[in-house]
Amino acid sequence: MPKKEEINIMEKLVSLAKRRGFIFPSSEIYGGLASSYDYGPLGIELKNNVKKIWWRDMVQQRKDVFGLDAAILMHPKTWEASGHLKSFSDPLVDCRKCKKRFRADHILHVQGIKPDLGTMHEKPEALKVCPECGGELTKIRDFNLMFKTFLGPVEDSASIAYLRPETAQGIFVNYKNVKDSMRAKLPFGIAQIGKSFRNEITPGNFIFRTREFEQMELEYFVNPKEANKQYKYWLEQRFNWYIESLGIEKSNLRLRPHEKDELAHYATACSDIEYKFPFTDWDELEGISNRQDYDLKQHSTVSGEELNYRDEDGKVFIPYVIEPSAGVDRTVLTILVDAYSEISGGRTETTKSTKDLEVVMKFHKDVAPIKIAILPLVKKEKLQKVAAELHQSLKQNWTTMYDETASVGRRYRRQDEIGTPYCVTIDFETIEKDNSVTVRDRDTMMQERVKIEELVEYFGEKL
Ligand code: ATP
Repeated sequence: MPKKEEINIMEKLVSLAKRRGFIFPSSEIYGGLASSYDYGPLGIELKNNVKKIWWRDMVQQRKDVFGLDAAILMHPKTWEASGHLKSFSDPLVDCRKCKKRFRADHILHVQGIKPDLGTMHEKPEALKVCPECGGELTKIRDFNLMFKTFLGPVEDSASIAYLRPETAQGIFVNYKNVKDSMRAKLPFGIAQIGKSFRNEITPGNFIFRTREFEQMELEYFVNPKEANKQYKYWLEQRFNWYIESLGIEKSNLRLRPHEKDELAHYATACSDIEYKFPFTDWDELEGISNRQDYDLKQHSTVSGEELNYRDEDGKVFIPYVIEPSAGVDRTVLTILVDAYSEISGGRTETTKSTKDLEVVMKFHKDVAPIKIAILPLVKKEKLQKVAAELHQSLKQNWTTMYDETASVGRRYRRQDEIGTPYCVTIDFETIEKDNSVTVRDRDTMMQERVKIEELVEYFGEKL
């Protein structure tokens, strides 16, 4: 069970996210829509940074991975071939008394019972009583998580389409297109970032589980002989990515191999990268699996298209695939939780007492939504003019924020709270004496004078 103060951190974080423009409840003026969120001005910068870093590391800096942006609406046969139509469902139970809905596997999990599809359907004792009100639970029903819609004006069975529940299938159906157009040789990967939709029974925990979310998925096609080696390679790559590229604290991450009875029928191996979330303890951030040739084989059978590969010796086979599949929103949540720190007062002149806590979001510099804040010491035209020019020049290269209201101490504190790594203050010495500004470092709080003409180079090295 998470500790009380850990749950408290989530409350503080949700409130900070709204107050400082990271994440808002969706359609709030209408009372909000459950488990739906909008990214505000700072949230979208943070989220874009996550996607940019993933794309940089997974596509642009590699020779063997190609990018793709497939449509969200796909031919309905896709979902027949992938197995989603038949088996992409969660076991659902309802409480007859309080009418709440639960996932049967979650109820068992909380009681320390390992969920197993077979015994779940026999409705063991553990699934008789509502965990919230003690009322009687219904039998388990399998609930398909795909959102159904209709293409065109007629709502009949011939026009049914689905919002994709994962981005992966857009990659599999384009395997041949990418292989042929890029003259790709094994091993090679196709990467995609995009929205996915799942009609989750129990969304919640802020942006951890929502019905509309974004995924970053790589399908890495390999010779079956190499699959084990490549699987291990990707486990290591992806685990280290969170630490090295996003600055997540290593001790809050772990790699959990799935047990045999947890594996999807088509996977020979799967591991989750888990983060120690304040609300559930360890939970999935990304899954990496060896899906063998299941997907290409299925699409080949259902479409009638050959989706194979001919190697240099003329041998023809269907490649295996290693899939690292991550959630953008869950990564954003991880970054927010991991960066959140409360430091006892005295950091800025606004907190004289050490009892007064100051919040600092210790974002990795690449992830921080705003890199540099520009702060004229006082609202005087001479200072404002230099500050505005400086702002104009720095924002060509970095995301910046201009702030001239309240005392400098209070402004430093505001920037700490949104995790800005550097603040630049323009004072009277700047214009009267040395043409230099004070640069304050968020983490060390060291201040140094830097010549205005050297600032771009200075930040070029720092950021
Ligand atoms: P879970 O067991 O949490 O439902 P999953 O195993 O079904 O997740 P995958 O199908 O492996 O998830 O999806 C890959 C990644 O997509 C997950 O690791 C997660 O980061 C993200 N993801 C999946 N479902 C959601 C959701 N409803 N909201 C936000 N992110 C999600």
